[in-house]
Amino acid sequence: MGAPFSWIKPEPHGIYIEPADCWVDPSRAVDKALVTHGHADHARGGHGETVATPETLAIMELRYNTREGATPVEYGETIRLKGGVDATYIPAGHVLGSAQILLEHAGERVIVTGDYKRREDPTCPPFEVQKCDIFITEATFGLPVFCHPPIEEEMAKLLDRLRAHPDRCVLVGAYALGKAQRVIAELRRAGHKEPIYLHGAMEKMCRLYEEHGVDLGELRLVADHEKDDMRGAIVVCPPSALNDRWSRRLPDPITAMASGWMRIRQRARQRNVELPLVISDHADWGELTRTIREVDAHENWITHGREDALLRWCQLHQRRARALALVGYEDEDD
Ligand SMILES: [Zn+2]
Ligand SMILES: [Zn+2]
Repeated sequence: MGAPFSWIKPEPHGIYIEPADCWVDPSRAVDKALVTHGHADHARGGHGETVATPETLAIMELRYNTREGATPVEYGETIRLKGGVDATYIPAGHVLGSAQILLEHAGERVIVTGDYKRREDPTCPPFEVQKCDIFITEATFGLPVFCHPPIEEEMAKLLDRLRAHPDRCVLVGAYALGKAQRVIAELRRAGHKEPIYLHGAMEKMCRLYEEHGVDLGELRLVADHEKDDMRGAIVVCPPSALNDRWSRRLPDPITAMASGWMRIRQRARQRNVELPLVISDHADWGELTRTIREVDAHENWITHGREDALLRWCQLHQRRARALALVGYEDEDD
């Protein structure tokens, strides 16, 4: 046996588990990958074998059109890898199927979170705190300025604007995997029962969520309807469609966007967003620091975003931490 934790190696293209000869969320095709969730920066196609939750595998199948080498692992299930390494998949609360991966070897416990949040989300089970020696956390919103408001406030803003303009529609830009379905499910929770209209690019992922038990209410395709049908309605589209020709078929849309980045006014202006909705599937600063405290690991490894501020916070609070230089994670998702 080597030095403590020498079996787990942060490499530029992912976390490498040496005795098992496999990778977590590698950013290039490998023989064997453990995948935390379906966003493209974590779930690349083309691996020889992919170990992930059944939901993540279904998302990858939809995106890459193949199920080759898929090994499903349920939440709470442990699988034995080569070289005496155990991997357990634990809910991460990020999107449908998202998991933290607990790796155990020679009595040492390492958790790779992938992306996560601590807020309630009707589309996936909540993040579970598990003890470990090394906690590898994302830091997409790792600055104190990022404090996501309660989602109920953002839903109320959206519904108020809709009611104030019964002749127009509200067009919400939201990423096709996770954000769109969460916004729709939250609208339902807020009592909005009317049909919600979808850009064609959202349809398959919404159906996949429904097949996995997430109720999204009545969804209609924009392409099947006349402009007048959509007056007073909510329309959901990918962010890229917010300002393109496609939106001309809508009745005088009020443009909204659901993203953690909407906290930054300049980002909203860049996208010509009239109604910025600060809704994120990533932990904000308060959630990140609370999670590091609760997990209480011997060491924290920080990836994937603004590592510096969180690193500094750890130092100030006498917690061991280091920043990892992983490449290829560019938050498709928020
Ligand atoms: Zn993600
Ligand atoms: Zn990510």
